[in-house]
Amino acid sequence: MAVAVTRELRVVNPATLELVGTVAATDPAEVGSLVAAAAAAQAAWAETPVADRARVLLAVSREVLRRADEIADVVVAETGKPRVEAVTSELYPALDALTWLAAEAPRLLEPERVAYPQLHLKHKRATLLYEPIGVVAVISPWNFPFGIPFTQLAYAIAAGNAVVLKPSELTPLSGALAAELFVDAGAPVRVAQGDGAVGEALVRAPGVGKVLFTGSAEVGRLVAASAGERLVPVTLELGGKDPMLVLDDADLARAVDGALWSSFTNSGQVCSGVERIYVQGDLYEPFVEELARKARALDLGPLISEEQRDRVAALVDDAVAGGARVLAGARVPERPGWFYEPTVLVDVPPAARIERDETFGPVVTVARVVDEEAAVRAANENAYGLGASVWTKDGERAQRVARRLRAGTVWHNDHAYSYASSQATWGGRGESGFGRTHSKHGLYDLTAPKFVDSDSGRVPVPWWYPYDERAADAFRGALAPLYASGLLARIRAAWRERRALLALARRYRR
Ligand code: NAD
Repeated sequence: MAVAVTRELRVVNPATLELVGTVAATDPAEVGSLVAAAAAAQAAWAETPVADRARVLLAVSREVLRRADEIADVVVAETGKPRVEAVTSELYPALDALTWLAAEAPRLLEPERVAYPQLHLKHKRATLLYEPIGVVAVISPWNFPFGIPFTQLAYAIAAGNAVVLKPSELTPLSGALAAELFVDAGAPVRVAQGDGAVGEALVRAPGVGKVLFTGSAEVGRLVAASAGERLVPVTLELGGKDPMLVLDDADLARAVDGALWSSFTNSGQVCSGVERIYVQGDLYEPFVEELARKARALDLGPLISEEQRDRVAALVDDAVAGGARVLAGARVPERPGWFYEPTVLVDVPPAARIERDETFGPVVTVARVVDEEAAVRAANENAYGLGASVWTKDGERAQRVARRLRAGTVWHNDHAYSYASSQATWGGRGESGFGRTHSKHGLYDLTAPKFVDSDSGRVPVPWWYPYDERAADAFRGALAPLYASGLLARIRAAWRERRALLALARRYRR
């Protein structure tokens, strides 16, 4: 006889190792009924006018503002991150998404009239509808445990979908809170708590119309393969190894401060965190010296878990064993919690694993490059392609370099911040995944566009049967009058093909 086991997720504060709370895990066998419940709720939500959905988002926004301190408390307790980052990196993206969607979604999702410029189709009318997909499965990581699932929920809900959210098993409380805020306002959201087995069950659950996965490339592959078996579309927001290109005319002080924040915020556990810095020419020495000096003085939050710290330390040790020089950190400080010192490495050998693998910790490598060309080449060498930044006082130069970088986002004299500005697309190339979240593209990614064509039924259709012996010549002859480039060329073609056009006109008179 099967014994029912209630599994529990134990949430530990990684800074103090104290127990924060426990959350009941969902039995993978129960995930299907959560999806069915979400699907049932979605039917009514899809019928809710977009303007009313926007009002629900604004109601959620008022609650987020009212409960901002409580949200920050939960995030800090689960991740140990500095409180200022819980506010800037979790609450700002959340509120920005709600505000932007409430203002823009009604316009973006409105049925769109599509014109027919083709002469032979001018009598037709069409409308493009942006219909909801149905149930969207949102699977989230732990690094921004409130901000990431929250913004993705907001977009999916705005588009008229229901959501089943599977937060990271390391940060289930923040995920549950994000979901609760939508549920309280009347939006169709359900939560499945648990580890990868629950995520897997969700991806496989009949009734899931789309999977929005944020996490590692390794798990992203599994998710895409599993969704692919049933032809369920996926958006993959995966890892990164963002390069920062410091060109020889960069403002040194700004570049150093920018590098410091972009590499070490959230203890480097940022998908678009700077992990590689390429400095051009003579700027290299003063840059690494200043960066290392300032890194040594930083006091960071912990990593999420012992396992994550071990991964980061192993990558650093491997680089050092291969000959890399440590300018700062590369040590586990003597204090409780999963801390690791902010680390700056130089002279990293090309064979070191850290040259390729995502570190996802407070570690940055710096290398000298001779010119812009070498910087671009080095930046594009990695398999990831999430973000990149160019640091120069020359705006045109920045634009030129930006176009040559293989990345989903390129920033000039800044890095990563645009996650908190909803009009900016978010997403990557290569191993960083595909599809986009945020912006109109992220919204449309969560819709099923439907082209609805309309014909009065009064105009005969010339391409229907019967095909007589002159039909092929008639249609052949009409190609150039319809599609030759330039009005004059079309008129000339019409005169040349007058016999064919006459034959075609007869087909309209049948
Ligand atoms: P992860 O891939 O280990 O887990 C992500 C989520 O997937 C978790 O909820 C986990 O429980 C679930 N999961 C695990 N196995 C699964 C399976 N077989 N099927 C379905 N779901 C499964 O990632 P993580 O350690 O939580 O997060 C860190 C990673 O996320 C890093 O690589 C980071 O770069 C990436 N990330 C990317 C973005 C982005 O926007 N591109 C944002 C944040 C984090």
